[in-house]
Amino acid sequence: MAKIIIDHENCDGAECGECVDVCPMEILVIDGEKIKVQNAEECNECEVCIDVCPNDCIEVDE
Ligand code: SF4
Ligand code: SF4
Repeated sequence: MAKIIIDHENCDGAECGECVDVCPMEILVIDGEKIKVQNAEECNECEVCIDVCPNDCIEVDE
C-alpha cells in the first residue's frame, strides 16, 4: 500500500487544493483548512499530485 505523506508545514491547504483537484482516486481531500489522506490503499501511485504541488510537499512511497 502506498504511503502518502503531506508536509503540512509547507502545504497551503484549502487555499491551494491543487492535489485534491487532480487526484483521480479522490484520496486527497480538503478537511477544514488542511489536506487529509483517505483510502490510501486505493492510490495508484500516478504521482500527478506530486507534479502539481507548487510547494513540493507531497511524498508518495511505494
Ligand atoms: S499518487 Fe495519484 S492516486 Fe495517489 S494520491 Fe497522488 S494523485 Fe492520488
Ligand atoms: S498541492 Fe501541495 S500545497 Fe497545494 S494543497 Fe496539495 S499538498 Fe498542499
